[in-house]
Amino acid sequence: EIELRDLHKSYGDNEVLKGIDLDIALGEVVVILGPSGSGKSTMLRCINMLETPTSGEIRVRGQVVDSRPANLMALRREVGMVFQQFNLFPNMTVLENVAAGPRYVRGMSRADSEARAQQLLTRVGIVGKDDVRPTRLSGGQQQRVAIARALALEPRVVLFDEPTSALDPELRGEVLDTMKSLASQGTTMAVVTHEMSFARHVASRVIFIDGGVIVEEGDPAQVLERPKSARLRQFLNKLE
Ligand code: ATP
Ligand code: MG
Repeated sequence: EIELRDLHKSYGDNEVLKGIDLDIALGEVVVILGPSGSGKSTMLRCINMLETPTSGEIRVRGQVVDSRPANLMALRREVGMVFQQFNLFPNMTVLENVAAGPRYVRGMSRADSEARAQQLLTRVGIVGKDDVRPTRLSGGQQQRVAIARALALEPRVVLFDEPTSALDPELRGEVLDTMKSLASQGTTMAVVTHEMSFARHVASRVIFIDGGVIVEEGDPAQVLERPKSARLRQFLNKLE
């Protein structure tokens, strides 16, 4: 579904991504690990063109992605994103947050977009909160609304950038359970996270990035239990 070829990204003379090659297939759950500053967020943000790569190629379903506005619109429908800080629209209700995409991007009627939003909210376990402002919800609830919103345009793939890092430990489980259930329904996902249990049990593949390159990748058992590189061993030791 997604192919990255020799992806480079620099900020000024700081080269953050130094040639990333990555394929994400339909239904795969790819977990991305790596130290702070290694370029994980930058890579996700390049995939949906929140950042423009310096060089290299990105394809989504075979189509080359570039920053022309028409392409961007198409891309944003195909690639959903969930951020660490939820990024919900504060002056819209929960229902409006989820309905906005279908309504304004897809041109669905108000009734249809709201019916669809309600289905999605039920799917992430948020019921009876339609008319509430997101700031009145717990962090875990807000993040599940953000997931429903990311799903609203029926994206081919959903990118998650540390979706549980801003949450208290007792709220992380509900968000992880929601993500697990999406994964089991065959949603294609790329997830930057430090949640090792999610990586171990849900990922179809784990990728370790350090210094802007993919240092190691493979199935979770191999990468997490039998790391080959010293850098990854050191990283995993620090997490335990
Ligand atoms: P973390 O685990 O802390 O979230 P990360 O792996 O997601 O780290 P990135 O956010 O991708 O790392 O940042 C990689 C590098 O790029 C860092 O050195 C950062 O300072 C730099 N960087 C990121 N965004 C920008 C920006 N908009 N302008 C300039 N430099 C940036
Ligand atoms: Mg980051």
